[in-house]
Amino acid sequence: MRIKRLRLAGFKSFVEPADLVIREGLTGVVGPNGCGKSNLLEALRWAMGEGSAKSLRGAGMDDVIFAGTATRPPRDFAEVSILIERADDTETEVVRRIERGAGSAYRIDGRDVRARDVGLLFADAATGAHSPALVSQNRIGAVIAAKPADRRQMLEEAAGIAGLHVRRRDAEMR
Ligand code: ATP
Ligand code: MG
Repeated sequence: MRIKRLRLAGFKSFVEPADLVIREGLTGVVGPNGCGKSNLLEALRWAMGEGSAKSLRGAGMDDVIFAGTATRPPRDFAEVSILIERADDTETEVVRRIERGAGSAYRIDGRDVRARDVGLLFADAATGAHSPALVSQNRIGAVIAAKPADRRQMLEEAAGIAGLHVRRRDAEMR
């Protein structure tokens, strides 16, 4: 699975619609402090189903909506679309939209779906919102500062074996 395109509107500092085409190969995002580099990656994680506002540096989920500046009024919704290309060359569009005070809604190829459906779509490709393939700035420090048991859990997640423990616990309870 490859991410081909990322579109944002009203998400954090991306008040005007932004359309990013991601070409094959390595992509870098550069710019001065505060220009929105981390916001871009958060948009990606958010559209993949991230459920924790805190891990998106907000107090509540509405904080992902453009909050306004001295010269611009706030927006009342945010929308992020991810276009993915599968190994068999088919394309799928995943959209998450949030309205102020009304929560999130998801669409896959134009159909209304549950957060769970989006989670499954990305988990199957092992690129989910919590995938070790996405490392945010504060996580580096967290790995260094973690207690050994917590660090072990992070390493097991990175190695892709954390799911095995869950499945074993499931099996033992049956
Ligand atoms: P650095 O190089 O320091 O890591 P960065 O390019 O990663 O910077 P971001 O953290 O992505 O920058 O962007 C921070 C900016 O986004 C701040 O100016 C902040 O005010 C703005 N911002 C965050 N949330 C919102 C929001 N809901 N509405 C408007 N602006 C927002
Ligand atoms: Mg940053």
